[in-house]
Amino acid sequence: MSEAPTPAPEKRRRFQAIKGVRDLLPPETTLWNRVEQTAHQVFATFGFGEIRLPIFEPTELFARAVGADTDVVSKEMYSFDDRDETSISLRPEATASVCRAYIENGMQQLPQPVKLYYLGPMFRRERPQKGRYRQFYQIGAEVLGGGDAPAIDAEVIQMLMAFFDKINLSGTTLYVNSIGHSADSCRRGYVETLRTALQGVKEKLGADSQRRIDTNPLRVLDSKLESEQAIIETLPHISDHLCDDCRVNYAAVKSELELRGVIYKENWRLVRGLDYYMRTTFEITAQGLGSQNAVCGGGRYDGLVELLGGPPTKGIGFAIGEDRLILSLQEGAKATDASAEQSAGTSLRSLTVYIAWMGERAYATAVRAAKDLRNAGFSVELPPVAQKFGKALGQADKLGAKFALILGDNEVAEGLWTLKTLSDGTQSKLAEPALIEHLRASI
Ligand code: AMP
Repeated sequence: MSEAPTPAPEKRRRFQAIKGVRDLLPPETTLWNRVEQTAHQVFATFGFGEIRLPIFEPTELFARAVGADTDVVSKEMYSFDDRDETSISLRPEATASVCRAYIENGMQQLPQPVKLYYLGPMFRRERPQKGRYRQFYQIGAEVLGGGDAPAIDAEVIQMLMAFFDKINLSGTTLYVNSIGHSADSCRRGYVETLRTALQGVKEKLGADSQRRIDTNPLRVLDSKLESEQAIIETLPHISDHLCDDCRVNYAAVKSELELRGVIYKENWRLVRGLDYYMRTTFEITAQGLGSQNAVCGGGRYDGLVELLGGPPTKGIGFAIGEDRLILSLQEGAKATDASAEQSAGTSLRSLTVYIAWMGERAYATAVRAAKDLRNAGFSVELPPVAQKFGKALGQADKLGAKFALILGDNEVAEGLWTLKTLSDGTQSKLAEPALIEHLRASI
């Protein structure tokens, strides 16, 4: 390999991550891992299997599935031409990919429904702020095929709430709504009624909402603009426009939720931003997030697989915003007490043993001890060069170690090691074989 030429000084600039994109660092990543492990566990108990999806797909997949007129597709996608000039996009969401994979892998031949979940980064070029990033992470699940019994909707929501419970996310509120049947049925009637009502108040609305009267009137209901709130409250509600089938379906979903002890609130303004939703929609908000307080959104999308060229297939799913979930857990931990640090992953104290060694013989023993302790599952720091004990203990403290294992030539000669508990300064002398048991018992 030829060496790169040394850049001119003005080119030796420091790089920064792209706006709206960030590094996730330890110890916070401990919390991310805990959340993801819990998702794997809880979703498995509901019979879901993990699907790993590509991060980029043909642009057309998202345009067709999510809707070419939606903000996500028309303004926020990272799209580029591949070398063969096909247009490719970084995925802004994963439901379209799950449906594509369901069709492509012939999953309609499997016993239905097929229950899948995924985790990973999504990309949207939104205006960055707290809880809103251009690369963000979602944990999502989808149920495809196997009918549209209201019990399916309720069980998906129940799983979601069970997951939030398991990770101790507090201050959540579940909102549900039904947005009716797609296109030519009751939804179309409602959209026209809404459009007419919006025309009547057009002058009082902001520019975005004015534009949406033509492109996507339902989205006006999503508006957070203070000056529009009172006007929106006067608009017609979809619940007064549902057809008989949708009304019965919505009532059944709510009673299935009640049967499962899932507490919900109804929110007639919950329409969701993506085109593919129909009937059941839901959203969960959590504490400590400011204006971006939705940690999860989801709903039913019965026509989507067919729209992507597959057989008629019912579908429902959700996506949790993992970045916001983590923020809310951290805020919750701050609000309770400092000891909650640990559970929120903000503590440095994941290191168990710092080995303070001195001397050639002690070093060989320290290397062996580190290997044995790590094999037993403890986190161990073995300094690469000898230090004075005082300095070593100071370093152990800074790193947040729970114990310091003191190994000098005397300890090694005696075969009795000194273990110091750093929180209270107590010391015990232990023979090597007793060390692991002692540590297990004291943690
Ligand atoms: P959506 O796919 O738009 O239904 O979003 C589902 C969830 O993903 C939302 O409730 C948010 O928690 C999260 N989310 C969406 N967009 C972003 C973003 N730009 N940054 C962080 N989280 C996001």
